[in-house]
Amino acid sequence: MNKLRQYFSTRQTSQKMAIPGSGQVANSAGGYTWALDKWGQLDRFLILGSEGGTFYISPQKLTVDNAENVIDCIQEDGVRVVQRVVEISTTGRAPKNDPALFVLAMVAGLGDEAARRVALDALPKVVRVGTHLFHFMEYVEGFRGWGRGLRRGVANWYTSMPAKRLAYQAVKYQQRDGWSHRDALRLAHPKAPSDEHDALFAWITQGMEMPDAAAPASDALKTIWAFEQAKKATSVGEIQTLIVEYGLPWEAIPAEWHGTAEIWRTLLPQMPLGALLRNLARLTANGVLTPMSQETALVVGKVTDQALLQKARIHPIAVLAALMTYQSGRGVRGKLTWTPITRIIDALDAAFYQTFQTVEPTGKRYVLALDVSGSMGAGWVANTVGLSPRIASAAMSLLTAVTEPQVTTIGFSHELIPLNISPKQRLDDVVKAISGLPFGATDCAKPMLWAMENNIEADAFIVYTDNETWYGDIHPAQALQAYRAQTGIDAKLIVVGMVANRYSIADPNDAGMLDVVGFDTAVPRLMSDFIRE
Ligand code: CA
Repeated sequence: MNKLRQYFSTRQTSQKMAIPGSGQVANSAGGYTWALDKWGQLDRFLILGSEGGTFYISPQKLTVDNAENVIDCIQEDGVRVVQRVVEISTTGRAPKNDPALFVLAMVAGLGDEAARRVALDALPKVVRVGTHLFHFMEYVEGFRGWGRGLRRGVANWYTSMPAKRLAYQAVKYQQRDGWSHRDALRLAHPKAPSDEHDALFAWITQGMEMPDAAAPASDALKTIWAFEQAKKATSVGEIQTLIVEYGLPWEAIPAEWHGTAEIWRTLLPQMPLGALLRNLARLTANGVLTPMSQETALVVGKVTDQALLQKARIHPIAVLAALMTYQSGRGVRGKLTWTPITRIIDALDAAFYQTFQTVEPTGKRYVLALDVSGSMGAGWVANTVGLSPRIASAAMSLLTAVTEPQVTTIGFSHELIPLNISPKQRLDDVVKAISGLPFGATDCAKPMLWAMENNIEADAFIVYTDNETWYGDIHPAQALQAYRAQTGIDAKLIVVGMVANRYSIADPNDAGMLDVVGFDTAVPRLMSDFIRE
């Protein structure tokens, strides 16, 4: 048999070889794909993170790969890196702020003088709460010492924050990961911009006594005073008064009261949305939330308030994680158990869709194709326990399925896997359905081949994958070209990258193909803009 064409064709190439002349590189699975450019990979790192690893790449290796890419970006344009970090962090597009803080710390240490200054000037935008600051300080020490620039940057974080907010930060996040505000202030030595700041700095660094008798006149110092009073309180009533009158968050309440349901009932109305999502299980286990209670109605109202969700920058992954944990009725560490309340599960299900930027339907015909091969079941997206790329893709796909009227959803590995999921199902039911599928090898060309074999007319193929394709006899980009030729439809391909590796099945030279990052909250808008074009 004549093998020349099998060995070298630009129209049909085995995925185990590069398409001739394409510039493809080997992926981790022994197949060939394109490599993202460094800025595209920076986006994946900022949004998906590296600490959850992938099926093929350990968390450590994935972090090193991404950090080396960040260095390449810094060498090309450190100021642009900072701008990207600020944009992704402040718009709430990423599930976790840690990659943004890490990259900012890298620029602050490894950038040229201009980039280092821009990075440190950006601290108040990216470092929004005490925990962020402690993480940043931990990271930055890996790249530089405490020179004048860093001291000035951290000092500016303290002096630019209004005193009232700083007092709240000081009682809410006292320390994390071996860092405290005392450490930060002693290193940075800020000059207090007001008497209130001066008193706050003194209290943080020296633990100044607050007089018992009456609350001070300053709002900021009232918070500190109430925090000190709470330490000495001997009754539930005293703690409740301090919460109501001075707005103490639960972190500022001494641990001995954490088991008291009455305290939580008092905390609930003023609890920030993020804290509320993290405490749903506790509030159900301790009886504050019951199926008919007014507290449950309050929680449902807050969780489904789109304006509140967006203001608090609640990311869909935070909602999905809360839903997966809450509906299980059992804590990750296994000690706490509770009976989940259906109204709350439904509210979380609704909240998931409200946390994305909303878009108008395009009315185009979509094939949503989920890679359900073995590799998609391993590793955690955005360092979120239990959230495999496979589960994350199913959740992402529902978002398009709920918006667009003409959608077919399929699964694939080395073969087609029919999927029985619909946005009419609750998210946790979809998670169960997708989790139970068999594993297989990976052929990302399958969706287009399936559409050709079955005369499916589609304007867009959306493929959710880790881009570790290797099994097929034809590359996905070639299969799309064959589909276009056969049907006469100028179909588009959008690749939703679900892990922070550097591979993509999208041909960067084909204007009809686009690579986006899974669980970027801007994805629905990016997709519909691209498909409408
Ligand atoms: Ca795979």
